[in-house]
Amino acid sequence: MSDGASRPVPGPGILEIATYVPGKSKGPAGVRVHKLSSNETPLGPSPAAIKAYGGLSGRLELYPDGSAAALRTALGERYGLNADHIVCGAGSDELLSLIAQAYLGPGDEAVFTRHGFLVYEIAIRTNGAVPVVAEETDHRADVDNILACVTDKTKIVFLANPNNPTGTFVPIEEVRRLHQNLPSSTVLVIDAAYAEYVRRNDYEAGIELVSSADNVIMTRTFSKVFGLAALRLGWAYAPAQIADVLNRIRGPFNVNAAAIAAGTAALGDRAHLEATIEHNDIWLERVSAALRDLGLQVTPSVGNFILVNFPDEVGRRAVDADAFLIERGLILRRLENYHLPNALRMTIGSEEANKALISALAEFLKNG
Ligand SMILES: *Cc1c(COP(=O)(O)O)cnc(C)c1O
Repeated sequence: MSDGASRPVPGPGILEIATYVPGKSKGPAGVRVHKLSSNETPLGPSPAAIKAYGGLSGRLELYPDGSAAALRTALGERYGLNADHIVCGAGSDELLSLIAQAYLGPGDEAVFTRHGFLVYEIAIRTNGAVPVVAEETDHRADVDNILACVTDKTKIVFLANPNNPTGTFVPIEEVRRLHQNLPSSTVLVIDAAYAEYVRRNDYEAGIELVSSADNVIMTRTFSKVFGLAALRLGWAYAPAQIADVLNRIRGPFNVNAAAIAAGTAALGDRAHLEATIEHNDIWLERVSAALRDLGLQVTPSVGNFILVNFPDEVGRRAVDADAFLIERGLILRRLENYHLPNALRMTIGSEEANKALISALAEFLKNG
């Protein structure tokens, strides 16, 4: 029975998924590598989180608390939220997938923006739904364009705020306007993975919007400013009915014990958080200014990374810069998948990494 037609066939949409390509981490042999490709923090996690993680080594045979109660309580206290409305996940990626799984099916539509985070498209297609792309304006999500994409089939709108890989954000008034004009049956997902880094009075992560609506979810992560990407930990704040839905479909032990322990400890270390944000404030500004001085166009960023746009001249394009930088151990993110073929995304790194990057790009542009 080797009839080709009888092979297992995945659900509708799944074979249309382009596999997610993570940031590279390797350079040439013998060269010191600075990985600036995945928006990880150069300061690492809080020492308290590392200690809590280490403290688990004698108890690995025990299942974690499936409700992550200690972590949800700590999050609730920290952000002033009802812990019952918080759902934790193995990274916010898992929560985005669960949201899609819960609210999308074949024939439904979900909207995200042209240069929006690619995990949304994977989550949408996995459930047989149709991804609908709203054009951006100047690398920024455009509320009118998003609203123009909404039909009676639209079940979810995904908004990364700030967005990765562009680094731009949508002011809270605009997010409110987006919400006000969505059907009440459409879920608005605000992915605020970089919220802690944003220093703008007109920005909010979306907590109040979630609290005052039945169809808004905010997702957050411990992977970026908290430096715990390896442990996979994220959380969602959602209205009671949505939190209930996510709790029904998530794995009973979806968050591991190390993540719960380290995440809870990390929340208690405000000084480390502040130091991480301050480092970013200083170097986001300095690196952006230095690259502009070199004649590169840097999209204004409020996150811990920048979108660097290259000239469209052979020898000076993003691909050429990427090859040049890799030789010197500087690993940035190529963005063909994000429809930004002539840009690279650079994570703000350590002082050493940032300086090395600036001088390497100066050399590249001089020779190009
Ligand atoms: C990094 C990132 C996430 C977080 O992913 P985790 O699964 O929590 O590591 C979510 N959304 C955006 C836009 C991101 O850049």
